[in-house]
Amino acid sequence: MKVTIDQSRWAEVMSILKKNIPEVSFKTWIVPIRPIYRDDEKRVLALACSDQFKAGLIKTRYLKEIESALSQVLKKDYKVNISYSTDEDINEMLSEVGSGKEKKLIPKSEDRSGDEYFLNPKYTFDNYIVGSNNNYAHAVSLAIAESPAEVYNPLFIYGGSGLGKTHLMHAIGNYILKHHPELKVLYVSSEMFTNELIQALNDPNNSNRRINFFKEKYRGVDVLLIDDIQFIEGKEATQEELFHTFNTLYEFQKQIVLSSDRHPSKLTSLDERLKSRFQWNIVADVQPPDFETRVAILRQMAEQENMLIDDDLLQVIDLLAEKIKFNIRDLESSLTRLKSYSQFMPGNPKITVAFAKQTLTDVFNAKDSTINCEKIKNVVCKKYNIKLTDLESSKRKREFTHPRQVAMYLCREMTDQSLPQIGKQFGGKDHTTVLHACKKIEDEIKTSAILAEEIKLIKDEISQ
Ligand code: ADP
Ligand code: MG
Repeated sequence: MKVTIDQSRWAEVMSILKKNIPEVSFKTWIVPIRPIYRDDEKRVLALACSDQFKAGLIKTRYLKEIESALSQVLKKDYKVNISYSTDEDINEMLSEVGSGKEKKLIPKSEDRSGDEYFLNPKYTFDNYIVGSNNNYAHAVSLAIAESPAEVYNPLFIYGGSGLGKTHLMHAIGNYILKHHPELKVLYVSSEMFTNELIQALNDPNNSNRRINFFKEKYRGVDVLLIDDIQFIEGKEATQEELFHTFNTLYEFQKQIVLSSDRHPSKLTSLDERLKSRFQWNIVADVQPPDFETRVAILRQMAEQENMLIDDDLLQVIDLLAEKIKFNIRDLESSLTRLKSYSQFMPGNPKITVAFAKQTLTDVFNAKDSTINCEKIKNVVCKKYNIKLTDLESSKRKREFTHPRQVAMYLCREMTDQSLPQIGKQFGGKDHTTVLHACKKIEDEIKTSAILAEEIKLIKDEISQ
């Protein structure tokens, strides 16, 4: 007998797969899979995917992996099959299974939105280390998780990459689902939101079915968490749709949480109406953690990973915390790399300071990781006595162009950022502009001792 697949069970399968499959592969291949039904007599689980190419690839590459995750969750072996079907057919199959006399496997109250599987159960408040860098964002997030839509709405979290924004958003979602399982919680990246919208708009039958489905989906939730909103800059249709989604949710007092790598006012190609809505209530930043917080994060991680915490490891942790200052993801990955090197290298070498220096060559030989474009821009602004906004602008007066070119040149010299990445740091300039600036300053240094000296002084200041 075919029965509907319990969404929370499927969520468990997804979270096991998420752990075992690289993130980008997980997003590309696993997320689009739609569970259709399971048949307990035949021990079969039927899946579908509305992309023919993906369905084929999943079949050859991921079925075993899905079967093994499934058997962990169901404690029995099932055979998994996957077919390619259009979205319409998938919805039809689902409604057939759902409308049959077969009863759903879980009581209604636990029947969640079905999309919360994007939430990573690993990211909770319990394992979020709070320091002066993030304590406001943390406190507001927790308050929201405790009373969604009652205290702060919307919440906008911003800050650099790898500083814990996504972790906080998942923590909010996980907390709400745990304490209010009846609420519909939806977490998406703005990229997923955009892609879904595009698919919905491209309905081959020219009917409104898909777009209505999309609208209902997003306007019908209790809590909407949209990550990395900077991605919708310049995407007008997406902004328009988000505007209406925002209004509906806000009007019905549903919780909205957004994140971005920048303050809303710095999202330059974003609709003014959205920009102002994002700032209607709380805008909270996450900053790079201080040394103590970095150490606390690494220690917690070592515990979670069941590493032996002895003096050697504590010294290594201090060393990593000293060296990697601006990105918690990098901090964590250096520790996991040490762990796996020591496990898999012949003789299982112990993790010591010497071992760390010898194996993590990229970390220890890298250009000084305390130096980033932000810091360079600040020092340059101070030296030439101009405002950061002017440095990042396109103003053509020499009092601005010269410092801007110097700053670009120094970013190229002193960091590992690529030309396009540097361009982005200067109000979204093209990589050729950056290249031109670098060449110009390089040439000028050769002919002007004054400039050479000027640059040397700035460099010294940055390195201090
Ligand atoms: P962002 O979304 O800001 O780029 P993430 O939330 O993905 O950053 O965080 C990167 C990694 O660092 C994740 O593995 C996350 O669990 C970890 N992390 C970030 N902040 C903290 C924190 N305060 N305590 C513990 N782990 C953290
Ligand atoms: Mg993130």
